[in-house]
Amino acid sequence: MGEAGIIHLDAAGAARPSPATVEAQAAFLRAEGEHGAYVAELEAADTLRAGLEALAALLGPDLDPDGIAWHHGASAAFATLLGAWPLPARGGRVGVVPSEYGSNRLVLEACAARAGLDLLDLPVDPAGTVDLDRLDGFGLDRLDLVVFPQVPSQRGIVQPAAEIGRRCAAAGVPLVVDVAQSLGQVDTTGIGADAYVGTSRKWLRGPRGAGFVALRAGVADRLGLAAPSLHNARRAADGGAPEPLPGVARLGVGEASVAARVGLARALVAYAADDPPALRARIAALAAHGRRVLDGAGGWQVREEADSASGIITLRPPPGADPAATRDRLYRDARILTSAIPAARARDLDGPLLRASAHAYNDPTDLDRLAAALAATST
Ligand SMILES: *Cc1c(COP(=O)(O)O)cnc(C)c1O
Repeated sequence: MGEAGIIHLDAAGAARPSPATVEAQAAFLRAEGEHGAYVAELEAADTLRAGLEALAALLGPDLDPDGIAWHHGASAAFATLLGAWPLPARGGRVGVVPSEYGSNRLVLEACAARAGLDLLDLPVDPAGTVDLDRLDGFGLDRLDLVVFPQVPSQRGIVQPAAEIGRRCAAAGVPLVVDVAQSLGQVDTTGIGADAYVGTSRKWLRGPRGAGFVALRAGVADRLGLAAPSLHNARRAADGGAPEPLPGVARLGVGEASVAARVGLARALVAYAADDPPALRARIAALAAHGRRVLDGAGGWQVREEADSASGIITLRPPPGADPAATRDRLYRDARILTSAIPAARARDLDGPLLRASAHAYNDPTDLDRLAAALAATST
C-alpha cells in the first residue's frame, strides 16, 4: 500500500512510480528552470543514454541504443511507425490479431482505407493466443507486414512472440511488436522483430507522456517520413520532397516533456539494476494468486487460464454489475485502484470487464482485499 493508503492494482493502466523516479523528474524540472531547458537536457544526456542502453538490453540481443527514438507513448509511436513503413502503394497485406490494441487497430484501419490494405487475422485459439500449428499453414510469406501486441491490455494472455518472430523471419516478412503491456512484466528478449513500440507508465513504472520506438539495425533506412518536422527531416537540395534524417532520427518527435524521458530513463536503469527475472516471477505469482482468490468473488469470473504468464487479470461481471461503476466504488469505498475496460476498447471483447494488475510492489493480501471487496459490493 502506498502512503496515501491506496491499494494499487492497476499496473496495466499506470503503475506506481518509485520515489526515486519521481524525484529524478522533479530535479530535472528544477534544473530546467535554473539552468535553461536546453542546457538541462544536455546535462541529462548521460542519464538519457543509460536509459536507452537499458532499454536496448531488454529488447536484445539484436537491438542497439542508437536504433531507439523516444516518443510520446506507444500509440503515437505506432502511428508514426506505420505512417513511415514502406507498404505497397495498393493491395498490401498485413497480418494482425483480434486482440490488437484499440488505437493501433484504428491506425491500421485508416491505413487500410487509404492504401487498400488487407488486414488478415492470424489464427488464434479461443483465448486469443496465436495458434502456432495453424500459423505454419497460414502462408506468412504472402504478407507484407505482421503486427501484434506481445501482451494485450484486455486479456490475460502472452503471445508466443519469439516463436512468431522466428516464423516471420523464416518467411521473410517484417514484424512489428507492441511491447507497451509486456516490457517489464514478461521476457521481451529474443523476439527478433524489426521494430518495437512501447510506453513508460505501465510495467516499467515510468511517468506518463513518454514511450519509444526501437528499430533493428538496417530497418530505419527503409522507412519514409510520417510527420515531417525540423526534428526528423530536412529540405531536399533540389526542392523536392523533404528527406528523412539518417537512422531512427527520422521517427523523432522533437518537442516533448524531457522530464518524462528522464523519469523513464531512471525507471529503466532501476529496473535493469534490480533482478528482472525475479520481478517477472513475482508479478506472475501475484497474478496466479489473484486468479485463485478472485474467481467467483461476488459472482465475478476470471476470464483467463489460472496459470497464464500475464500479470493481467480480467474479470467478467455477474449479471447486472457494471465494471466502471464497480471500479469507482472500489476506489471510493475500499481505496482499491483497478480499471474498467469498455467493450468498445478492442475487437475481441464481447462485454465490459474489470481489470486487476499487481506489480512487484504489491502483496498477495492486496488481491485478497480486492476479492473481499468484490464479494461485499455484490450484495
Ligand atoms: C497501453 C497500451 C498501448 C498504448 O500506449 P500509450 O502509451 O497509451 O499510447 C498500446 N498497446 C498496448 C498493448 C497497450 O496496453
